[in-house]
Amino acid sequence: MKETKLLDDNGLRVDGRRLDELRPLKLEVGILDKANGSAYIEHGRNKILAGVFGPREAQPRHIALADRAVLRCRYHMAPFSTDERKSPAPSRRELELSKVVREALEPSIMSEYFPRATIDIFIEVLQADAGTRCAGITAAALALADAGIPMRELVAGCAAGKVDGKVVLDLSDVEDKQGEADLPVALMPKSNVVSLLQMDGSLTEEEFKQALDMSTDACRRIYEMQREALRQKYHVIKDEADKEEAAEVKV
Ligand code: ADP
Repeated sequence: MKETKLLDDNGLRVDGRRLDELRPLKLEVGILDKANGSAYIEHGRNKILAGVFGPREAQPRHIALADRAVLRCRYHMAPFSTDERKSPAPSRRELELSKVVREALEPSIMSEYFPRATIDIFIEVLQADAGTRCAGITAAALALADAGIPMRELVAGCAAGKVDGKVVLDLSDVEDKQGEADLPVALMPKSNVVSLLQMDGSLTEEEFKQALDMSTDACRRIYEMQREALRQKYHVIKDEADKEEAAEVKV
């Protein structure tokens, strides 16, 4: 494969971004009628749907837990989501990502409220351009909230990494493939809990700290966008004036 120069003479990236610049994001909540909760994310050229079912009675019964709900997660890439047709059968990578995405979301869910139940999360990557596990987590957290599942807080995801010797935020596909390191991160921004941290490639300790700071800062920005996306669907009644206004709208 022909190597692309990942940073130009002005220090700008292949798609014109600065080192610490996020790709454009679009978030939508509640777009599927049949799932209990759903969300859609466009994160750069990634296009991902998340659907949630539950809490509902655990089936098969032997998987039920007496003290909390079982959380299940399936991360799947559509055959048309990559340059070359991807086999629809679950790959080792998809099995791994299903596990790490579940573990990233688990601490945010109050599963203790639903003993003997299951909560199912489905993440369908329609178009992939690197950072799909992080974007999938961002969308799935919104789908869980949309399903009305009690959560401690939302979870937002964003990767950082290293290209041409510089630490950069939110790698695109070409940067992921030809860069020197990739550090996917998910954050629960209110409690400051990092619930996903993986690393591919190598970074010095200093670079690692810089990449972690960059990605957690981006997660905080994405969290604000998640809140806004929820507000678009759910009108929050804050005071008496709001209540009256809502009542007038109903009439
Ligand atoms: P993430 O999407 O979370 O960054 P990876 O680092 O494993 O996960 O993958 C980076 C990117 O590589 C994906 O977003 C996708 O664009 C591409 N990719 C992954 N698996 C395949 C595949 N089987 N065929 C083609 N492209 C793939």
